[in-house]
Amino acid sequence: FSAINEEREIERDEFTPGIEPQATWCPGCGDFGVLKALKQAMPEVGKNPDEVALFTGIGCSGKLNSYFNSYGFHTIHGRSLPVARAAKLANPNLEVIAAGGDGDGYGIGGNHTIHTARENHDITYIVFNNEIFGLTKGQTSPTSPKGHKSKTQPHGSAKSPIRPLSQQLNAGATYIARTAAVNPNQAKEIIAEAIEHDGFAHIDFLTQCPTWNKDAKHYVPYTDVQQSDEFDFDVSDRAEAAEMMRKTEERLYEGEVLTGRMYIEDERPSYGEEKRQIGEMPEEPLAERYFDEDAEWE
Ligand code: SF4
Repeated sequence: FSAINEEREIERDEFTPGIEPQATWCPGCGDFGVLKALKQAMPEVGKNPDEVALFTGIGCSGKLNSYFNSYGFHTIHGRSLPVARAAKLANPNLEVIAAGGDGDGYGIGGNHTIHTARENHDITYIVFNNEIFGLTKGQTSPTSPKGHKSKTQPHGSAKSPIRPLSQQLNAGATYIARTAAVNPNQAKEIIAEAIEHDGFAHIDFLTQCPTWNKDAKHYVPYTDVQQSDEFDFDVSDRAEAAEMMRKTEERLYEGEVLTGRMYIEDERPSYGEEKRQIGEMPEEPLAERYFDEDAEWE
């Protein structure tokens, strides 16, 4: 995973493999916006495809690594984060990104999402939040609004939706943001920042599913909270961030879309860094030891 072309300019096209997503993603799907923003973020952070590994869960979003040219691992439902964590610990030089849907990350793999944030693993996690299970044909998901009707909740969901931003703040994520597929420039900037952040970076990425979520918001118009005079808060202040997240999450279900950086904490070391500081892990990447016949193991 060496930076073989450090000096030259990196093109986003280098992250485009020979296959295109039109065959599997529906027209108008928000997933296209995530893919575009992710590819555009790569030149910003100066990463070559051979320096990046993308781990995905199951769902329409899980196909992301088929359309993104890097190392990749399409894992099982809700389990992208444990695999991504292992890869990052074995090779801290690798840029590790995980991605999945709201059903995958907030439902099936909800426990992993909480504990990966708590341990502050140096990973960027992108959750495609379309408020529905898309690939399995439209079941209610953890972010579907209360009263939402679907095949699994034909009389309307009696459950309140999960609040992923607030949950991640409480769990311990050190970078938390919300962006939307309809806002590719902001999305690109947020992904680039998240990748450069040293610690667990959680992006709640609003994506529309026009096929199964017929009532789906298309998340326009949206307000960028960093650009708006209405919201003057300090992203590094935990209490102010919590209040901003409360407003953001409440208003989404009232039809107002707020996006932007919600919380950034730079001081706390990542899990791998702490492990190395206390001597529990060697300084050199474990991945290199696997290929070193003379390496000593305790
Ligand atoms: Fe996108 Fe929904 Fe189609 Fe899946 S089912 S590709 S989430 S529009």
